[in-house]
Amino acid sequence: MAAIPSDADPGDQPADHRELNRDLRIFDTDPLAGAGLPLWLPAGTVIRDELERLARDIARADGCVEVRTPVLGKRALYERSGHWAKFSDDMFPPMPVGGDELVLRPANCPHHALIFAADRHSWRELPVRLHEVGAMFRAERSGVVSGLARVRQINLDDTHVFCRPDQLADEVAVALRSALEAQRILGLSVDHVRLSRRGPGPGFLGSEAWWQQAEESLRQAAAAVDLDAFGLELVDGPGEAAFYGPKLDLQVRDGRGHDETIATVQVDGNQPERFDLTYDAADGSRRRVVMVHRGTVGSMERVTAAVLERHRGRLPLWLAPVQVSVLPVAADHDVAARRAVDALVAAGLRARLVVGGSIGTRIRQCRTTRDALVAVVGDAEAAAGVLQVNDFGDGARVELALADLVALAAAAHAARRPVDWP
Ligand SMILES: [Zn+2]
Repeated sequence: MAAIPSDADPGDQPADHRELNRDLRIFDTDPLAGAGLPLWLPAGTVIRDELERLARDIARADGCVEVRTPVLGKRALYERSGHWAKFSDDMFPPMPVGGDELVLRPANCPHHALIFAADRHSWRELPVRLHEVGAMFRAERSGVVSGLARVRQINLDDTHVFCRPDQLADEVAVALRSALEAQRILGLSVDHVRLSRRGPGPGFLGSEAWWQQAEESLRQAAAAVDLDAFGLELVDGPGEAAFYGPKLDLQVRDGRGHDETIATVQVDGNQPERFDLTYDAADGSRRRVVMVHRGTVGSMERVTAAVLERHRGRLPLWLAPVQVSVLPVAADHDVAARRAVDALVAAGLRARLVVGGSIGTRIRQCRTTRDALVAVVGDAEAAAGVLQVNDFGDGARVELALADLVALAAAAHAARRPVDWP
């Protein structure tokens, strides 16, 4: 095995995802479609599908069930939830339809609250955890939207947990651990975890006692997760809470060095009041649930921008739009190359045949689009029944039989880890 230069080194200065997008063709924007409304191109759609699959795998492992809810609802729904009073300036204006006023939703929580409220729940069946990768909307002005980092439609990996107060710290700990695990799989370095607390002044709903207890549950959860083991600090963030409750925010640095929240776990005592969300307690009384809003992967737009910048466009194999490009040196090698592509695709991998132009030009093209692996078939390889495989991520170059390449790449894809070269 010979080493070739690797271009996986993220370097000190992450690139801007809008610049990387010129080579990678992840998304497009069109003035006719509108600013802040990116169109996901085929390569971007692959990334987004993989991110959604990761979000669902984690949610399922944590005992969540999948739901699907509409992207718009009656204005009255958001008056009930409190979003209308707080956020109507950031919402798209209502659309009059048949005597109702419909608005594009500013958050997924009210729909999930209605799903919980639709059934009666015993204390024995809590927590109920509802998961959806759902779209929500923000009426950002044209001047402030940018690439995938700031958009008008946000597709969020979103879970709402409805639990008893005595379950709160455990639920927050599970959510925090999963959010940290998601960011580890994505290769994103979380800078610190912020305990976003209530600040002075109005604008935070709920009693003093409720806030103290909720903030204490978050502290307990952070202690249970042992942030030290992740090399992370819990940083105090007074005034950074949501209006309805405190939260734990996973903070990362973006390509321009800005601190931003990539995933979050929030406690909410307000929606349970507003939607009268209760359970039947052991003593027969009706009690109020606590609601936890949790995101692990984050918003599809923001996390795509972050992984592109973090990896300088060279995404890990499981996330790469093209996992294996197969290049026949000459037309004589087309049959062997086609056979390789067919076997890789049959194993569930994203593989393509690249013909036309010199072999050097094609390898450069594959490097530009950051294909994870490039397999070359020439006379020597065809005679020996092997492919010469280049992994530009770790600089490996190895000769492998087709069956071995399929097995190694499929195992790496399934485990969401780098290929374990022999
Ligand atoms: Zn929510």
